[in-house]
Amino acid sequence: MTQTFDLCVVGGGIQGAGIAQAAALNGLSVALIEKSDWAAGTSSKSSKLIHGGLRYLQTFQLGLVRESLRERRTLLNIAGDIVKPNWFYLPVYKNGRFKPWQVRLGLILYRLLAGRKNLAGYRRLPRSEWAQLEGLNTSNLDCVFLYQDAQTDDKLLTQRVVDSARQHGATLLCPTKFLTAERCDEGYLVTVAENDEITTLKCRRLVNAAGPWVNRVAETIDPKPPTIDVDLVKGTHIEFSEKLSERCFYLEAQQDHRAVFVLPHKGGTLLGTTEILFDGNPDGVSPSSEEVDYLLEIVRYQFPHFNHHPINAWAGLRVLPSNDKSPFNRSREVQFAEGDNYLAVYGGKLTGYRATAEAALKKILKSMRLESEANPTGKQSSVPFKIIDSSKVNI
Ligand SMILES: Cc1cc2nc3c(=O)[nH]c(=O)nc-3n(C[C@H](O)[C@H](O)[C@H](O)COP(=O)(O)OP(=O)(O)OC[C@H]3O[C@@H](n4cnc5c(N)ncnc54)[C@H](O)[C@@H]3O)c2cc1C
Repeated sequence: MTQTFDLCVVGGGIQGAGIAQAAALNGLSVALIEKSDWAAGTSSKSSKLIHGGLRYLQTFQLGLVRESLRERRTLLNIAGDIVKPNWFYLPVYKNGRFKPWQVRLGLILYRLLAGRKNLAGYRRLPRSEWAQLEGLNTSNLDCVFLYQDAQTDDKLLTQRVVDSARQHGATLLCPTKFLTAERCDEGYLVTVAENDEITTLKCRRLVNAAGPWVNRVAETIDPKPPTIDVDLVKGTHIEFSEKLSERCFYLEAQQDHRAVFVLPHKGGTLLGTTEILFDGNPDGVSPSSEEVDYLLEIVRYQFPHFNHHPINAWAGLRVLPSNDKSPFNRSREVQFAEGDNYLAVYGGKLTGYRATAEAALKKILKSMRLESEANPTGKQSSVPFKIIDSSKVNI
């Protein structure tokens, strides 16, 4: 017997998990298909920040920052045990890219976009307290600001959302690889492989949330659905077992003025990230020695006494719009490609997964409603009109 679902979601990263959770919560039957492990892709390789993205103010992505700050507030409420506020120290150097008044303006805007009942604002650290900054290089230091954002464990967060999807009735298929999908009368006939066993499923709607694999997955669908032209941009982190600080540092790289984070992580320190265009197979992404050297140069310049060796390094891939801008300046907004009974998710942030899932679900329900109006049957009239959003569901 071929099992039939309202929705098959390909990809068990945060976006696929979020869409499966939202759909299951709203009464749809869902299969979530992941080929290796939950959060095995980008969703375990992020900087693990639940943040508005202060640096996106530089490129005027105000809508994204506002939405992310509000999602930060929601995640602090519904996952408070794994999403924790922390202080971020932002040193401004005389030879840096920004003047203190520009950083202050950015922080005021960040505070305003956060809205009420959100994390506290910012302040300037008195010079008398610079000595407490874990040996930060103070030559040419003009001033230091502090503001609040949040940290999480990205893999655990994804796992929690997957668990919530299961609790609301989603069927979890992992490790199961999506192989192909073919259009049929009811929607799609989907072929998957669990180890060497090949199975077929049917679904009314197919969601491609395969992150950096999104266009590879699209290639296997017949007829080929609409796609978006994207670039994959590699971001590397290095990890130290030694702890530099309990607090986070938002630094400007002396080499190219990019923003880089130094973060407390599992009792040690995490440093990242880089932005390098990548055109290989996402299965084989790994950090290069140049990226590791670049990050080491930053930490050794900013904290000259911290001359430890990293114990680990890993790389993840951002899915960014393809254009002539530098990766740093490209939009981080999520994009959707829509086809017949098909929806694909491109890009987006860990922080915004809930909002992305809600937007995706609205599109799916709208198309199901249009279908049921054109061809009314008992089953299709069960498509919900009012969405139950997941902002009240603890994970
Ligand atoms: C270096 C870096 C740092 C970042 N830092 C932050 C941050 O601090 N805060 C923040 O909010 N965002 C951050 N982001 C963004 C965020 O991590 C990503 O937007 C998010 O994790 C993407 O999730 P996803 O589900 O789209 O993709 P992924 O997590 O990559 O999930 C896709 C999944 O699809 C699966 N898959 C692929 N092909 C198949 C197939 N054929 N069959 C079945 N499964 C398949 C893969 O195994 C994978 O698990 C960062 C991104 C990068 C690269």
